[in-house]
Formats: sequence, C-alpha cells, structure tokens
Amino acid sequence: MDKFKEECGVFGIWNHLEAANMSYLGLYALQHRGQEGCGIASLYNGELLIKKGLGLVADNFNEESLEKLKGSASIGHVRYSTTQAHDLCDVQPLVASFQGSFLALSHNGNLTNAATLRKKLEAEGALFQSQSDSEIFIHLIAKSKKESFREKFAEALSHVEGAYSLILMTKRGLLVARDPQGFRPLSLAKLGSAYVVASETCAFDLMGATYIRDIEEGEVLDIQDGGLQSFRSLKAQPRNCIFEYVYFARPDSSIFGQNVYAVRKELGRRLAIEHPVEADVVVPVPDSGVPAAIGYSQTSGIPYDMGIIRNHYVGRTFIEPKQSIRHFGVKVKLNAVESVIRGKRVVIIDDSIVRGTTSQKIIKMLRNAGAQEVHLRISSSPTTHSCFYGIDTPTRQELIASSHNVEEIRKYITADSLAYLSLEGMRRAAQYPKKTFCTACFDGNYPTQVSN
Ligand code: SF4
Repeated sequence: MDKFKEECGVFGIWNHLEAANMSYLGLYALQHRGQEGCGIASLYNGELLIKKGLGLVADNFNEESLEKLKGSASIGHVRYSTTQAHDLCDVQPLVASFQGSFLALSHNGNLTNAATLRKKLEAEGALFQSQSDSEIFIHLIAKSKKESFREKFAEALSHVEGAYSLILMTKRGLLVARDPQGFRPLSLAKLGSAYVVASETCAFDLMGATYIRDIEEGEVLDIQDGGLQSFRSLKAQPRNCIFEYVYFARPDSSIFGQNVYAVRKELGRRLAIEHPVEADVVVPVPDSGVPAAIGYSQTSGIPYDMGIIRNHYVGRTFIEPKQSIRHFGVKVKLNAVESVIRGKRVVIIDDSIVRGTTSQKIIKMLRNAGAQEVHLRISSSPTTHSCFYGIDTPTRQELIASSHNVEEIRKYITADSLAYLSLEGMRRAAQYPKKTFCTACFDGNYPTQVSN
C-alpha cells in the first residue's frame, strides 16, 4: 500500500554519447521515488537543454523529446511534492543562470533549516523562483565570495542542515554531494568511460552500468573530463534512513552497502523469532510485505502463500462511480484469495501501520474470505514520529502509534493478535553496529535540529 511517499530520485551521467537516453532509463528505474514530476537536463555544445513535466517519466518523454536532448552529460530527477503546489516551476532539475553560464541541480531530501535560510536569503535580496528547498543551494552558491566554483559549492553545503543527495551540472562537470548523515542513498557507477550517479543501484542495472561504491556521508565528488576527484567538505556523522530498507527503496537495489530484499527478509526472520504465533499460513500484504513474509515463513516453518492479490493497474486516478457501489476502500487495490484463506489461521505480514484504517479493512476482508484467525505482524517498530528528511509522512497526530499502545491498536484494527518488530531487531537486520541509522520516526531521536 502507498503509505508514505518518497520525495525524490536523482540521476546524473558525465561523458556518454547518449546521456539523455541514459537519464531517461535511470529515471524510469527510479520512478517509485516520485511520480508527480520529472525532468532531464543535458549539456550540448556549452548550452543547457531541458525538458520537464508533471506526471510519470513514460508520459513525459518519447523518442522525439529525447532526441532533442543532445549532449554527453545529463542529469535527471523524479519528484513527489509534499507541501508545495504541484507546479512545474518546482519540478527539477532546477536551472539558473550563473556568471554568464548556467547550473542545473537535482536534489533528493529535505533541508531542516530551509525556512530560516530562505528568509535570510530573501532579506539579502534573493528572488526565489520556486517553493522548493532545493533552490536554496543555488542562492547560497551565487552569494559565495569564494574563488573557485568548487569552493563556492562547498561553502553552500556548510550552511545547510538536513538531507541532501545532490547532483549539480555545469559546463565544467558534475558536482555530487551527500549530507554528513547520508539520510538518503546515492551511489556511483561506471558505464564504459562514463561516470553515473543515481539514488539507487536499480538504475545502474537497467543500463548495464557497473556499481563502484556509495557516495560517502559528507563527501563531494567532482566529476570532470579529466576524471573524478573526491573531497570531504563536512565531517561524516552517518545516520542512514532505516526506513529506506523497510519500505521506500526498491528490493532489487543495494543501498547503504546492502541489498534491500535481503534486509527485508531478515526483518521478517527476526519478526518470527520475536513474535511467533500458531498459524496455518503466512500471507504478505503486497508488495512491500512480501520479502518479510518469506523470511517469517522460512524461520517459523509456517507455509507462505499469496492470500492477498494486488491490482497493479490502480493509479491515483481511480474515481468511485457515484451511482452504483460506493466505498470500495482497500478492495480497489487488494483482494483476498478465498481458496488460500478459508478456514485458516492467518498471519499477515505488513511493513508498517500508519493510521490503522487500511489494516482494519484488510483484516475485515480476510475474515469475510473465511479466515478463522487473523494475526498481524509488522516488520518495523511502531511509527510514532514524522520525518523531516525527505519522506512525506503524515503528521504525528495522524500516526496511530503516536497516541495508542499496541493493544489499543490491535483492538482498533480487530486483529486476533498484533506485534511489531523491536527497534533493536530492525537495527540488527540492517547490520548495526556496522552502520548507524536514523530511527527518528520510531523513537523521535532526530539526528539534526528540527522545528517540529
Ligand atoms: Fe528515515 Fe524515519 Fe529518519 Fe525519516 S525520520 S530519515 S523516514 S528513519
């Protein structure tokens, strides 16, 4: 179920004859990270070419439009907007004139000091063209008194707080940066002699690029014709987003050094150890509950089966026919398979509970399909806090676990039993202490100052 929205995916490529085509493929693979807008900018004979649009990558680009985006360097972006209006000027890459030339920027993440910085910059005379946090980078670069462009960029980064996986394109090359906590993923690959950067490695797989490594926390890469240079502008304080593993990233991607599918399966295994139950069948809530359900089944020995089917063709445009059946609710997306469910004690595995309304409907649907018992197991801890680092979570008040304990939630959703994986179990599955994570939406420990 689409419970949370990822805010963006970024892609960049330098020194490839079909740069814009590669950006298209990259964005196509990253579409799950944002569906409300997309754009590709390319660099051709020192000129910037750009096409942006609202909606999906496949609906905005075709052979003809990609043909026009000539050049051997390109960056792209897919976007999900949160507070801003769904306006084309907020769709990235953002572009600005700069010292007789230009710069184009793709950013994933939210800046936690954006409001303060924006106010300050506006008071100093900056004119913003969009509502996006990302434009702040451009104004900070423009006002820097440093000599070289690279120094201006580094100085801009020193003023911002929060999450950024960032790709900036100018005539001289790509500058790529990840915030000191490394909230959002960002990886580097090679495709022939070209360097490729993307939010997730699934983008590399589609075009046959070879993964090299992740951009490190607080690292800046300077990619030019002469090659690649790495420098550190800020001290690393790793706090990778653990929810990327639970829900957001594609299972075939490897992020923060591990394959997402493998981590999700491990979350399910640990869930089975922490919260066993006598049951006849393990059923995932598709699609995001699938790997954890496989892990739960393998560890518990309870057979796995697809007792719920997802309709993959439901978009945001479904309109309930007014005159006939009303209140389709969750049935539009999910339906129970009666032959799997009838007469069984069912364990359903889901990745999280937001408001509880969807879980309640799923449980009702399973009971209507003849389930004898329904036990819900969640492969993450209770979501009690909102995210300020680039994930569109509901407000705290809307998160059922912020105001209800597990037993109260169980009663509300009408499950026979309910249990969540512990935070420690999540951390272990994600290989703590080898890696340190942001877990703020589960425990309220925000790694940076936030104004909530
Ligand atoms: Fe990820 Fe939650 Fe931290 Fe946001 S608050 S970065 S979703 S772990």
